[in-house]
Amino acid sequence: MKPQVEIYDTTLRDGAQGEGINFSAVDKLRIAEKLDAFGVHYIEGGWPGSNPKDMEFFKQAAKRKWKNAQIAAFSMTRRKGVAVENDELMRLILEAKTPVVTIVGKTWLLHVLEVLRAKPDENLGMIGDTIRYLKDHGKKVIYDAEHAFDGFTEEPEYALATWQAAEKAGADCIVLCDTNGGRLPIEIAKITAFAKSKLNCKIGIHTHNDCGFALANAIAAVDVGAIQVQGTINGYGERTGNCNLISVIPTLELKMNKRSVPAKSLPKLKELSEFVNEVANMRHDVRAPWVGQTAFAHKGGMHVHAIDRVGRSYEHIKPELVGNFRRVLVSDMSGRTNILMKAKELGFKLTPDAPETREITSKVKELESQGYEYEAAEASLALLIRSAMDNKSKKHFEIETYHVSMRRDKLESICEATVRVCVGKDFAHTVAEGDGPVNALDAALRRALVKFFPKLKAIELTDYKVRIINGTTGTAAKTRVLITSSDSKREWGTVGVSQNIIEASLQALVDSMEYALLKK
Ligand SMILES: [Zn+2]
Repeated sequence: MKPQVEIYDTTLRDGAQGEGINFSAVDKLRIAEKLDAFGVHYIEGGWPGSNPKDMEFFKQAAKRKWKNAQIAAFSMTRRKGVAVENDELMRLILEAKTPVVTIVGKTWLLHVLEVLRAKPDENLGMIGDTIRYLKDHGKKVIYDAEHAFDGFTEEPEYALATWQAAEKAGADCIVLCDTNGGRLPIEIAKITAFAKSKLNCKIGIHTHNDCGFALANAIAAVDVGAIQVQGTINGYGERTGNCNLISVIPTLELKMNKRSVPAKSLPKLKELSEFVNEVANMRHDVRAPWVGQTAFAHKGGMHVHAIDRVGRSYEHIKPELVGNFRRVLVSDMSGRTNILMKAKELGFKLTPDAPETREITSKVKELESQGYEYEAAEASLALLIRSAMDNKSKKHFEIETYHVSMRRDKLESICEATVRVCVGKDFAHTVAEGDGPVNALDAALRRALVKFFPKLKAIELTDYKVRIINGTTGTAAKTRVLITSSDSKREWGTVGVSQNIIEASLQALVDSMEYALLKK
């Protein structure tokens, strides 16, 4: 089915300009394959000649079969005073052997005169020559009109002349760029509508997020007839980033009723977002719209009560549509309904009037007043619910004793931990060293448990957070430790609280291992 709006991904070029983002050629290929499978229409691989990684990417990309996407190479208009056929940039972009080339050119007279130091007419020639040359070489040409909105606002006639030069030379799509990210949705809509009234070729939109409007600006352009949106996965990009395709795609489909990627891809949106974060080594934003962990999390007792009856009452879409899911947060704000829904989510059958329900609710409230927090420690909560519901349920292991010490000499400091663990009638006594006391304790505990439960080998600690909770008058300050663990398929959180940081850490570690053993 033909898309109504094409998705043009520039994660590998504009996105790679973002601070902290650094893709190898292999990373780029992995992301491109994922994007292709997801169903975006264009994947911009980079700027041939700007660095060896991009060259390598195009070399590999040319050898592959792409199911949905067309690969695009990026470059700029020919240089001033150089014939197009003699321009090195043209040689490099043709060498990339992509079906699509994207050429950026100047719209803004300020840039033509002050930055390029070219005559206005020469810039028009540079645009026309470049596009014509690439069309003659059989390429689909997308023309990125840099600073389209800033240029139009200052010199509308000249801006239009540059776009017309691109159209006349045969550009397949003219993409209006808010390069500095400083324009408002209302301006974008007006100028895009004007461009559409004057040009016959397709119009696209490329926005940056400097005012937080990148998504709103792209949508405003689509609303008046733009049929291509350029952006990046998770909004990576220079400064505050580019338009976030992870938000564009569901907005088009679910809010504007416009088909872009195949409908069957939408439930894979969260996975795509997380995959790209993983490859980029970026932390997944918990508050990301649509795909963040908190996007469909409910805390207030009244909200929770309502969504239990009618999901629509406090959710703008069904979370499953984008591959996300509803979460109910348990906290001292919450009532019994939260506990019930949490229990259901964790696979326990609990009724509102059961004595266990009352018991668990008051237990959670009591522990929270002591400093425990279960919002990010669902695994600890699951263990708590389990022990309340089934008092015969046995723990898989028990720690009988442990010992942690640290010694320091001139060269290094070493922490050592010993643990004695009982499993039924058996026991293991192990010792391990670590960078710090908790690390040593974790290593010793694992070493002991793996003997009985080999599957624990796969568990990794992915995050460790410590917070000091201020004591009230007369009581000592306490430490709360939150641990996130992963078996590479799932993550779970556990909590421990004590006046002693090592004790608090051990509680969270023990819960983490116990929970891992519960899971099938
Ligand atoms: Zn850009």
